[in-house]
Amino acid sequence: MRGEASVLHLDLDAFFAAVEQRDKPSLRGKPVVVGGVGGRGVVSTASYEARVYGVRSAMSTREARARCPHAAFLSGRFHAYRDTSERVMRLLRDVSPLVEPLSLDEAFVDLARSDLDDLSVPSVTAFAERLRERVVEATGGLTASVGVGTSKFIAKVASDLDKPDGLVVVAPGTEQDLLRPMPVRVIPGVGPATAERLRRVGVHTVADLEQISEEEMVRLLGKASGHWLYSLARARDDRPVVAEREAKSVSVEGTYDTDLTDRRLMESLLTRQAGEVSGRLRKHGLSGRTVTIKVRLHDFTTLNRSTTLGSPTDSPATIARLARSLLADLDTSGGVRLLGVGVSGLADWVQEDLFGETAEEEVEELPEVEVPHHSRRTWAPGMDVVHTEMGRGWVWGSGRGVVTVRFETAETPAGPVRSYAMDDPELSPWRPPESTDETGSPPPA
Ligand SMILES: [Mg+2]
Repeated sequence: MRGEASVLHLDLDAFFAAVEQRDKPSLRGKPVVVGGVGGRGVVSTASYEARVYGVRSAMSTREARARCPHAAFLSGRFHAYRDTSERVMRLLRDVSPLVEPLSLDEAFVDLARSDLDDLSVPSVTAFAERLRERVVEATGGLTASVGVGTSKFIAKVASDLDKPDGLVVVAPGTEQDLLRPMPVRVIPGVGPATAERLRRVGVHTVADLEQISEEEMVRLLGKASGHWLYSLARARDDRPVVAEREAKSVSVEGTYDTDLTDRRLMESLLTRQAGEVSGRLRKHGLSGRTVTIKVRLHDFTTLNRSTTLGSPTDSPATIARLARSLLADLDTSGGVRLLGVGVSGLADWVQEDLFGETAEEEVEELPEVEVPHHSRRTWAPGMDVVHTEMGRGWVWGSGRGVVTVRFETAETPAGPVRSYAMDDPELSPWRPPESTDETGSPPPA
């Protein structure tokens, strides 16, 4: 914990949904739900207009449809989210060399390393207000909520206090007063399972938690978690803002005496390795956004394949699923002598429960985007398309051989709707010219 409020946390409001409303004028001010649109889909982000109806992240899309049937259900456009995120991250790196992104829409900024020489509360407040205005300009209208405090923990708590489009600066010395009435879930790493364990011993708020001795906490939750909660309950958090997280990784690999050829065996080995990687991440309170597999073929060619999520994960199910899908794209018919799974892009901010599986296991589910099967045309709701005569638009819906398109972009007014045969040669998917690939190498500044 620092003597001055110099850690800033910025969180874009309803990010995926806000990007959709920016790019689809007819949806502005209306309920929008981005996520998996299929039978087992999960909501990734709901616009504030949809939240009024009780739609929330991680809810099944089926339930979201029941609660808000008139919402626009979109499958998401990762390229647009990444592009918008990069504009914001560049802006933040202009402010300070120490920027730590947590996901596409969230980052910590160390103001002690900025040009601000006065870190008093009024000065930091004015600075953060200007920064929020610049985010609106840089993103074409997206708002951000910002929190500033003496630690990462307090800054993150603060940014959530006045969402959306809010700013809260927690004055040094007032941290514990702020935290005490809050539920224990406010502490990072305390998910439903831990909260339940604490509830059983009568601990509901941070004030309750403060009454528990360190020994008791360790006995209840284990050594690492016990010490962690004991400190955080007292607002003691000295974690530095760290740029260049991407270099760190946690990985597990195995070499095999005989070349593996059975695909199902390889998948189960990857699944087991994903479990070990997840265990090590959780043990250290880490999570990461990039999942990589390493495959050495019978001729000693070594292949690395990776994919990047919108937000960090430490979930064994998510890591395993991504690892298996990466393997699916490789030709391993000649045999494999080494397999490995790694997670990089690490943040020490676990967004889910530190202590065990929860019902929210699939929270990190990405919207179903960027299906690389160019052989078969799929018209996902919300995707960008271009028509030879009508120009650019987006898929409103499709089915029974027909795709319906609304022709509008961020720069046009709400536009007209037309329907076409799904195989109409004049209609094709649209991608930005300089979009990055799935592994997300950043474009030149
Ligand atoms: Mg956000």
